[in-house]
Amino acid sequence: MGFFRKIKKFISLQDTLEDKIFCVVLLVGVVIVAVSTAVTFVEDLSPVANVSTAAAGFMLVAVFLVAYVLKHPDLARLMLCLILNCFVCPLAFFVCGGIDSGMPLYMVAGIFLIVPVLKGRRRLVCIGLSIITDVLCIILSYDYMPGAKPFFEHDTNILAPLSLEARFIDMLCSLVLITLYLVVTTALIMNAYQEERAKRERLLAELDYLSRRDGLTGLNNRREMNGFLEKLRISDERFYMLMIDIDHFKLLNDTHGHSFGDVVLKRLAEIMQETIDPGDDEMIARYGGEEFLIVMKADDMNAAYEKADTLRKNFEKEKWEVPELVTTFSGGLVHCSEYENYYKAITDADKMLYEAKDGGRNSIRMR
Ligand code: GH3
Ligand code: MG
Ligand code: MG
Repeated sequence: MGFFRKIKKFISLQDTLEDKIFCVVLLVGVVIVAVSTAVTFVEDLSPVANVSTAAAGFMLVAVFLVAYVLKHPDLARLMLCLILNCFVCPLAFFVCGGIDSGMPLYMVAGIFLIVPVLKGRRRLVCIGLSIITDVLCIILSYDYMPGAKPFFEHDTNILAPLSLEARFIDMLCSLVLITLYLVVTTALIMNAYQEERAKRERLLAELDYLSRRDGLTGLNNRREMNGFLEKLRISDERFYMLMIDIDHFKLLNDTHGHSFGDVVLKRLAEIMQETIDPGDDEMIARYGGEEFLIVMKADDMNAAYEKADTLRKNFEKEKWEVPELVTTFSGGLVHCSEYENYYKAITDADKMLYEAKDGGRNSIRMR
C-alpha cells in the first residue's frame, strides 16, 4: 500500500471527528515543521529560528508518540493545542516578522483548532492561555518594530524584519491558506454534524417502527393496537372487532417444536393480511402469544362474520410441511358501536372467543 493511502486509511480509522481533525493537524504540523526546519538550516536564518523549528518538530513527534504509542489521546490533544498556541505560534511570530507577517492569522487559526479538538474545562483554559500568549507576543513585538519608542533597552533584535515584498507575499499566502483551513475545518464539522443528525433521525424512525411492531410476525403489536383503539370512533357503526386464538397451540408446539409453532404464527399473520386486506382505518395486531385482534369495517354483522369465517377456512385449509396437520382457530366477533369504550368490546370479544372454545373450537361466535 502506498504511503499516502496508508495515511488516508489511518485517518479514516479514527473514531470521531475530533480524532480525525487532531490526526490531520498533527500530520500537517509535522510536515510543515520538517520543511521549515530544513529551510531554516539550509538558509541559516538565525540561531533562534534553527532551535525553535527543531524544537517544534521534536514536540510534535512527542505528541504523536503520546497519542498513538503510549495511547493517551486526551493528553496528546492538550499537548498539541498548548504547544501550537503557546510555543510554535509565538516563536514563529518573532521569527517570521511579527504583526507585519501573516502570523496573526495563524494565531487565530491555532485558537480556532482548540474548539473541535478539546472539550470542557481544558478547552476554556487552553483558549485563555493562547489568547494571553498571543496578546503578550504582539505587545512585546512593539519594542522591536522599526521606528518604535521601545519600553526597554534591547541588545539583540529578536523580531526578524521583513521587506515590503516579503510582507506582501506572506500576507497573501497566509490569507489563502488560513481561509482554506477555516473553510475546510468548518465544512468537515458541519458535514459530520449533518451526517450524525441524519443517522440519529434514521435510528429514531427505525426504533419507532420497531416499537410498534411484533418482531416475529411483523404485525402491529398490542401497544400499537391500543393506540389505534384509543382513537377509534367506537360509535361508528361500520367497525367490528374479531379476537382469535389458535386452537391447541401448546400441543402443536410440544408435538412439532417451538420453531414450527413460529412458522405457523407467521403464516397465520400472512393469511390474515391476505384475507382481510386492512385499509387505513382497519388494523390487525398480535395481541398476545397466539392471540390476534382485528378491527375491520363491514356493512353489517353478516358481512363481518363472512370475512371472519373466510379467514378461519383459509387457515384450516393451509398445507403445512407436516403432512395431515390441520390448524384451526376460534374467534369472538362483536359490533364496536354497541359498546361505550373499546375495553368493553374486547372483554365481550374474548367472552365470545371462549364460548367458541367451549363449543368445540374451530368456529367464530358473534354477539
Ligand atoms: P386453546 O385451544 O385452549 O387455546 O389451547 P392452547 O394450547 O392454544 O392454549 P394455551 O394458552 O395453553 O397455549 C398457548 C401457547 O402458545 C403456549 C405458548 O408456549 C405458545 N406461544 C406463545 N407465544 C409463542 C410464540 O411466539 N411462538 C411459539 N412457537 N409458541 C408461542
Ligand atoms: Mg391463548
Ligand atoms: Mg390457543
